Amino acid sequence: MTATSTPTRPLPPAATARRLTGLKPTGHLQLGNLLGAIRPLVADQYRTPTIGFLADLHALTVTHDPARVRELTLEQATMLLAAGIDPDRSMLYVQSQVPEHAELHYLLECATGYGEAHRMIQFKEKSATQRQVRLSLLTYPVLMAADILLHDAQEVPVGEDQGQHLELARTVAARFNARYGETFTIPRAVLPRVAHRIMDLADPAAKMGKSNAAGAGTIFLLDPPEIVRRKVLRAVTDSGSTVAYEPDTRPGVANLLEILAACVGGSPTELAAGFSSYGQLKNAAAEAVTALLRPIQLRYAGLARDPGYVRRVLADGAERARESGAQTVHRTKRALGLLV
Ligand code: AMP
Repeated sequence: MTATSTPTRPLPPAATARRLTGLKPTGHLQLGNLLGAIRPLVADQYRTPTIGFLADLHALTVTHDPARVRELTLEQATMLLAAGIDPDRSMLYVQSQVPEHAELHYLLECATGYGEAHRMIQFKEKSATQRQVRLSLLTYPVLMAADILLHDAQEVPVGEDQGQHLELARTVAARFNARYGETFTIPRAVLPRVAHRIMDLADPAAKMGKSNAAGAGTIFLLDPPEIVRRKVLRAVTDSGSTVAYEPDTRPGVANLLEILAACVGGSPTELAAGFSSYGQLKNAAAEAVTALLRPIQLRYAGLARDPGYVRRVLADGAERARESGAQTVHRTKRALGLLV
């Protein structure tokens, strides 16, 4: 589909969709999102039905600015299209435009223990830094389980940080099936070969994230090449001088090697052998990341000039997602003993 045309619908029925990932509009998308979730999603869209969605309901679990969430939702949708989501092949939509997410969320809460939600590491970490913790922060992994189970997704490309939440989705689905009869497909995480946990360039002990303070160690997908280069060249390494892939003892260098391997192929260990200094490695990594981002940024610039097109894609995606989700919700209600 070209920008400006109306979305066409040659897709297989939405109910057959199998690979799914969601992105939370809480910040500008960064390299970890691209390598950990977006690229694996896009890579297989011609092999398997694919769903991408903007998880705006999840953005409400912490203090938020309504205008910013709205803006970031459109920006991220545009970025997903720029990164290669083909709306003629895949379904792309905004979570809050598909009420079946919230409906299934409630039904799954009735199959989830308080202790299970309370044990989630992300809840512990995020709630520890806030004075007023929203109840939705506690129940967010159950909404995530609903997101995944709604479309019978079998494969969920996610970064390593989402492993525990995905495990909860599997546990709840299996328990539900055992208690109320076969209702849900049990999903599995799909981790990229390398780069399933890209670290912050300024602090290799922390995960690269959209909301990291100041963003000095985060490569945003819309960063101009000179900024990418500066961030990579300033990446924190260690006092060593030879280049080797040793994630436990030299996490900064290992991170650069993983980023490079994700961009150009090969394994971090093999690539390490080709460099005799950290400077060489940093230059190669900066070059590889800017080459990876260049075509995406070009496409983004074109798409951003036509937000009406992006909105039409999202509206079409939401319509199809509702058709698919309604079937799952109906099945779930019937299994639970609700009159449907
Ligand atoms: P979020 O930024 O929380 O909306 O995450 C969206 C997706 O990107 C999830 O699948 C995350 O696991 C993935 N992701 C986020 N940050 C990273 C990272 N630093 N490395 C690898 N994957 C990541």
